[in-house]
Amino acid sequence: YLNQTRQMHLLKSKAYIDSKWVSARSNAVFPVLNPADDSVITEVPDMEAADAKLAIEVAFDTFKSWKEVTAKERSKILRRWFDICEQNSDYLAEIITAESGKPLAEAKGEVAYGNSFLDWFADCARHINGEVVPSPWPNKQIILTRQPLGVVSIITPWNFPFAMITRKVGALMAAGCTCVIKPSEDTPLSALAAVELAEKAGVPKGVINVVTTSRKNAPAVGSVMCEDDNVQCISFTGSTAVGKILYGQAAKGVKRVSLELGGNAPFIVFPSADLEHTLNQAMLAKFRNNGQACIGANRFLVHEDVYDKFVTGFKELIAKKCILGPGTQEGVTCGPLINIEQAKKVSGLVENAISNGARPLIGGEFATDLGNKFYKSTLLVDVKPEMKIFNEEIFGPVVQVLKIKSEEEALAIANNTRTGLAAYVFTKDLGQAFRMSRKLDFGMVGINDGIISGAEAAFGGIKESGIGREGSLHGALEYTDIKYTLMSGL
Ligand code: ADP
Repeated sequence: YLNQTRQMHLLKSKAYIDSKWVSARSNAVFPVLNPADDSVITEVPDMEAADAKLAIEVAFDTFKSWKEVTAKERSKILRRWFDICEQNSDYLAEIITAESGKPLAEAKGEVAYGNSFLDWFADCARHINGEVVPSPWPNKQIILTRQPLGVVSIITPWNFPFAMITRKVGALMAAGCTCVIKPSEDTPLSALAAVELAEKAGVPKGVINVVTTSRKNAPAVGSVMCEDDNVQCISFTGSTAVGKILYGQAAKGVKRVSLELGGNAPFIVFPSADLEHTLNQAMLAKFRNNGQACIGANRFLVHEDVYDKFVTGFKELIAKKCILGPGTQEGVTCGPLINIEQAKKVSGLVENAISNGARPLIGGEFATDLGNKFYKSTLLVDVKPEMKIFNEEIFGPVVQVLKIKSEEEALAIANNTRTGLAAYVFTKDLGQAFRMSRKLDFGMVGINDGIISGAEAAFGGIKESGIGREGSLHGALEYTDIKYTLMSGL
């Protein structure tokens, strides 16, 4: 599919170090597959620790000059990168769909979202201000300035293969840092396309480097990226399990970390909510990227007064709007799951729930005529909080609904998890809305809204969902340290 289309100039089959398209030292490669039909899109270098070390050295050397570039100039470069990504939106979307499987319309949405971080951080670059603090001593001045951390190691997942790059790289470039990126083995092509456009936009040599590697080599490459003395920060988005490994490795060198890990988002519906609006938002919060989003609604907690109507309405919407198929096909709204492991995980969770008494009102099986990764959009009722599915991030197109009787019960169930990324609340009661927002142990709360992420907002979780924030000015400040200078003898 890709080979016949017009984005060949963005389809790269090499890694990118010091502005050069390079192979692995070993010359090894691994295939990048289209999840819709398992066809090989292309092969990319299967790099090892030594390759990563070289990329880090380049980023470290480049940092010495890049940190001296003025904020105004960095801003201009980011803006040019934004412009050129905008011009290439359709091509980028086609690459995203080819390697991640998401429907083309969603891939275009991801490009717009990803680009918005470049636009935003181009603005932020010029607002990373310091402070002058009143001194307790005469004739002295306390000056606090923000300095870039240095080299940032970036490790990204496959579900938003383009936006996760711009969200991190836009922020760290605004701050004056350089980086080495290890994209997911499932989706390295979007990252490579993004850096091709970065080069065209005039991002200087060595500021952004990309090391591609298979899952087999990821642990060895990851260790170097976390432990090399020339790295100052590890920015990771992915599973909590891998996040904990990287956090441990970063601790050895007291490195900064920015971790965006898993969630288990509650979606709470109270009787006063506008039901039609709530259902439409529920569709978005659940089925975006076919359920493969860390802020995707995972547990629907619905008040008994509206439970029946909610469940009936949700089933109807799923039947009408969830059209399963390859992401390139017109009209398709739900693509394949990313790989066979994820497909097995999702179906396993549903089977386990059913064997423990849950009932699927729709779905609950693979659409085997389409292949082994197309799971039907599913709605489960009679779910119990002790079931495995209720306590894990499903990361697939499965709705589970639990009946609740009160605000207190909703809060107790919602907060009973070690993760704390996003939560959603639907109510017209203003007091209840504020109360829920305050009492929910989550980093982000959407009130009457199922789509909360944006470049201007601070994205991030608490508890085991992570450390730090992305987007907003805070996202750029993550990549800075505060330098304190005491000016004496004034
Ligand atoms: P997902 O379920 O989204 O694939 P993972 O946490 O498994 O989440 O993967 C996210 C990223 O982490 C990918 O780029 C993957 O290659 C990388 N990764 C997985 N294991 C390790 C590891 N031990 N060290 C470094 N990176 C790893």
